[in-house]
Amino acid sequence: MATDYAEDILGGSPRAAARLITWLEDEDDRAYPIMESLFPHTGKAYVIGITGSPGAGKSTLTDKLTHAIRKKGLSVGIIAVDPSSPFTGGAVLGDRVRMSRLSVDPGVFIRSMATRGFLGGTAKATGDVVKVLDAFGKDVIIIETVGVGQDEVDIIGIADTTCLVLVPGLGDAIQSMKAGIMEIADVFVINKADRLGADQLWAEVSSRVEQDSQIKQRDWTPEVVKTVAVEDGGTEDMLHAVERHRSHLEGSGRLMDKRRERTYQETLRMIHNELFRQVRDQLTNSGQLNQLVEDILNRKRDPYSTMRDIVQGWLSLPPKA
Ligand code: GDP
Repeated sequence: MATDYAEDILGGSPRAAARLITWLEDEDDRAYPIMESLFPHTGKAYVIGITGSPGAGKSTLTDKLTHAIRKKGLSVGIIAVDPSSPFTGGAVLGDRVRMSRLSVDPGVFIRSMATRGFLGGTAKATGDVVKVLDAFGKDVIIIETVGVGQDEVDIIGIADTTCLVLVPGLGDAIQSMKAGIMEIADVFVINKADRLGADQLWAEVSSRVEQDSQIKQRDWTPEVVKTVAVEDGGTEDMLHAVERHRSHLEGSGRLMDKRRERTYQETLRMIHNELFRQVRDQLTNSGQLNQLVEDILNRKRDPYSTMRDIVQGWLSLPPKA
């Protein structure tokens, strides 16, 4: 069955891809044998991350950027990561609007995903979904994510080029500078450039970038572009900035370095997750966990030595076939 699904996805079936993504989100075991078959077909797509505050215009920009990329004859996968809201369960209005325009294009595959409220949520499933879309044959994958908590920082681990969208009047730039978020951007996009204050913001960000590049001797100086996403203004400039960054990464060997680091982190994370899952399942299914909790609660045991004993015990078990 795994091979059937993998073949369907490699053959371009959006239904098979969508089903696999759902399994990945649900951590359904059926997903992993398919991922194994797909893996050799990954590594070809270029991944662009777009991050910024809610309302900054990320969806609008993604939409326009997608059109610009499609004009070049390249296919696009879009992953919109939404922080789950307890009210909507992560459903997004913008997505539906966008869907109606882009979904008629077979060269575009859109998927929205909820982060389900835990920090670093993007990294976990998004990395897998990127692989699915990559194997599915998408040339460019755009990950769009709201800048909350850890998520926007995660995106740098996944994207080859990260774009940070700022808008005049939100005090965003200042906040981003404080939180160190400026560091993550390869391209700064000053969106809503039709609004008052855009030139000033552009100047502030540009001078900051300038200062940073003098201090840090980076091999890439982030570009700062202005856009009016609603009118499709500046999106070509944004795309050119992304393309220049891509050429820089490819030409300097930095793309491989970035991907090596990503693979390193991802491999560790996967080992971590799998070990945790196996230990948790075994402790839960055997009823041992409840007993341990009672003992700890009643001060018959302490959690520190308990943890050590469990891990030691687990490590001495013969590996499962
Ligand atoms: P997201 O939450 O970052 O994805 O933002 P959206 O793309 O949904 O945009 C939020 C709102 O800003 C929408 O009403 C857009 O129409 C509007 N918007 C997006 N880009 C621009 C722009 O360049 N200028 C102006 N004035 N409004 C914009």
